[in-house]
Amino acid sequence: MKKSPTQKCSCKICTSGRTGKASRKQTGGKWITPTKRNAVLFLDKRCCQLCGRDEVDLKAAKERGLSLDHITCHSHGGCNEVHNLIVVCVRCNTKRGARTLSQWVKLLRNDEALRKELGINRKEVDRFNRRATKRMKSGFTTKDLKEKGHYKKAKDFLAKK
Ligand SMILES: [Zn+2]
Ligand SMILES: [Zn+2]
Repeated sequence: MKKSPTQKCSCKICTSGRTGKASRKQTGGKWITPTKRNAVLFLDKRCCQLCGRDEVDLKAAKERGLSLDHITCHSHGGCNEVHNLIVVCVRCNTKRGARTLSQWVKLLRNDEALRKELGINRKEVDRFNRRATKRMKSGFTTKDLKEKGHYKKAKDFLAKK
């Protein structure tokens, strides 16, 4: 797969020209460093932002329980910056597939069976939508993640294992 070094995110922040850098130093198919990944997990309190499932077991959270989801998918030009990332569990992530955020939210609002399967109600769908939209608009970057101390927490966590 070819990757474009100047890939632009189609989120509001990137299209307004403030950031939009795809993350550098992507090696071996890894698009995010373990520290940054864990820092985002700390930011979202290691909790699926859609269904609320959390992994108190940090090892499980790291290995399989929770995943980072691109709010705007890569295939739609989403960047790897923090403002385009949100923690969701693997189950929710898999169900979403390649849908855009609005397609996904619309489906969740209309499909009661799917909501039941994920164990969520319409209120939680709206809350997720608000969180994702807020994250995207926030322009949150790796620098903010560092300033808020999440990087340090992630580093300590990785050093401890
Ligand atoms: Zn972006
Ligand atoms: Zn979930």
